[in-house]
Amino acid sequence: MYKTALFPGSFDPFTIGHESIVNRALPLFDKIIIAIGYNTTKDGYFPLDKRLEWIKTVFGEEKKVEVTSFKGLTVDFCREKGAGYILRGLRTSADFEYERAVAQMNRVMLPDIESVFMLTLPDHTHITSTIVREIIRLGGDADAFLPENLRNKIKVI
Ligand code: ADP
Repeated sequence: MYKTALFPGSFDPFTIGHESIVNRALPLFDKIIIAIGYNTTKDGYFPLDKRLEWIKTVFGEEKKVEVTSFKGLTVDFCREKGAGYILRGLRTSADFEYERAVAQMNRVMLPDIESVFMLTLPDHTHITSTIVREIIRLGGDADAFLPENLRNKIKVI
């Protein structure tokens, strides 16, 4: 059976933590759709088109990766894309508690969906988009937390 996973997130911005989750999940799936979820009430910091462009830059050569965005419920977008799996990364017990509730509610809404969790690498546990964004916003150097081909690309807006 062809296995498609959706990796939803804000990716504001995409970090080496996200990149690592996708790379480690690639052998498990036939396709991974990295999908930026957005809604009109909560704008991200970086513009959606930039975030999409940056993620495409990271996985440009990888045919198994699609990069897109969606509005609304993750389960509805899974249905639309024919994705049977939702991929999420886990850093801390706080992540786990939150993700458990979301996954169990998603399963009520879409019983066929399986949420798959991947533990972050120990070196990436402390990396959050919120802090990376703050470093960039305040003029610091966040390159150590960004995928190699995004270093020097992501600037204050
Ligand atoms: P969201 O707003 O949906 O939490 P994020 O962009 O913050 O979106 O994260 C998307 C996914 O990537 C989530 O599953 C999150 O737990 C995971 N993630 C975020 N940072 C890291 C990291 N440093 N290592 C591994 N997974 C991460």
